[in-house]
Amino acid sequence: FWSAVPQGPADPILGVTDAFKRDPSKHKINVGVGAYRDEDGKPWVLDSVRKAEDILHEQRSDKEYLPITGLANFLTLAAKLAYGADSKPLAENRIAVVQSISGTGALRIGMEFVASFYKGPHTIFLPDPTWGAHPAIAEKAGLAVKRYRYFDRKNIGLDFIGMKEDLQNADEGSVILLHACAQNPTGVDPTKEQWKELSDLIKAKKHLAFFDMAYQGFASGDVDRDAFALRYFVEQGHQIMLCQSFAKNLGLYGERAGTFSMVTSSVEEKERVLSQLKRVIRPLYSSPPLHPAQLVATILGSPELYTEWLGEVKKMADRIIAMRSTLYDKLVALETPGNWDHIKSQIGMFSFTGLTPEQVDALAKSAHIYMTKDGRISMAGLNEHNIDYFANSVSKAVKG
Ligand code: PMP
Repeated sequence: FWSAVPQGPADPILGVTDAFKRDPSKHKINVGVGAYRDEDGKPWVLDSVRKAEDILHEQRSDKEYLPITGLANFLTLAAKLAYGADSKPLAENRIAVVQSISGTGALRIGMEFVASFYKGPHTIFLPDPTWGAHPAIAEKAGLAVKRYRYFDRKNIGLDFIGMKEDLQNADEGSVILLHACAQNPTGVDPTKEQWKELSDLIKAKKHLAFFDMAYQGFASGDVDRDAFALRYFVEQGHQIMLCQSFAKNLGLYGERAGTFSMVTSSVEEKERVLSQLKRVIRPLYSSPPLHPAQLVATILGSPELYTEWLGEVKKMADRIIAMRSTLYDKLVALETPGNWDHIKSQIGMFSFTGLTPEQVDALAKSAHIYMTKDGRISMAGLNEHNIDYFANSVSKAVKG
C-alpha cells in the first residue's frame, strides 16, 4: 500500500535535538529547542504546578468528557489573564473563548474559522521570519500565506518601515498575524509607540489583527506588560483574534493547555460565533483534554497559587535576561568582531544572533553546540556552567 510514500523532511527544530542527542561529547549544548531549562540545564516543573497537581489528586474528580468548548472555569480565568480584569468586551461578555490544544491548536481553530466565515480576503500575512509552523498551519486551514517584512537582517532589529509599507499595500481587510510579545524567532518586538502606529494603520486598512501570544509573562516577567499590544488593540476597538498558549509561561509544554478567543460586537454575535467554533472543533478532536485545563484553572483561580506562579514566571524571565547580559559581556570582553547589542535588547527566550549558516555548522562540528540554521539560540539553554564555553566557542567561530 505504502511503498511509494517518500521520506518526509526532518523538522528543522526537532532535528537539531536529534543531532544533539546523538553527540557523545560532554561539552555539548542544545540551544535549539524552545523550552525553559533551569540553572543546571534541566527541565523545570513549576512548584505552583506541582501543588495544583496535588490538589487535583486529592479532589479525585471524575474523567467525564468536557464540553466541545472546554472547561468553563478555565476559559473565564484564561481570558481574564490575557485581556485583563478591566477589559470592556470581557465585562460585556462578548468575547468568544474556546479551549485549544495549546497554541498550535488555537492557531488551527482560528484559521479554520477565518477560512470558513471571513468576508475579507482569505490571505494571512505572516511576519518574515516567523515561527516555523505558522505557514503550514495556515495552509492546512485553507488560507493563502503572504509575508510582511519584519526583520532587518543588516541592523539586527525591526524593519518598521518595511513592515508598515507591506501592511499598507496589503489588500484591505487582510488577516495580519502579530506575535503579541517575544517574537519567535527574532526576539525583536515593536515598541509601545510602534504598536500604537500599527494599531492605527491596521484599523485604517480594516485589517483583522490575529494575535499569537505564546509567551505572556515569559518575555518580561510581567504578565500585564507582555499583554500590552493585545490589550491596546482591544481598547482601540479592534475585533482581534487571539491564540493563547500556556506551554511556556506555566511550563506545561506536553500538557497542551491553551485557548482560542475572538472579540465580537455583541453577546448575540458571540453566541453565533461559538456555535460555529464548535463545528470547527468537533470533527478535529471532539472535545479538549481535561487535565491541563484543571491544572491551569487551579493555579489561576487560587490567589496563593496565582501569586506563587507570578513569582515563578518572573524567575524564569529574569534568568533569561541575566544570561543575555552575561553573554553580551563575555562576547565583548573576548573582542568578538561585530556589534552584539541585540543580544541584550532582544526579548524572550530566543535570540537571533546573526551567526551565518557556516558558523552554525562550524559550532556544531567543532564545539558540539547545536542551534537552528538561522542562528537562533534559546537563551534558556545557557547557564552559569556552560556560558563561558559557549561564549568562547561563538567568539572563535565568528573570528573564523
Ligand atoms: N506560537 C509561537 C510563536 C510559538 O513560539 C509557539 C511555540 N513554539 C507556539 C505558537 C505554539 O506552541 P504550543 O502549541 O506548544 O503552545
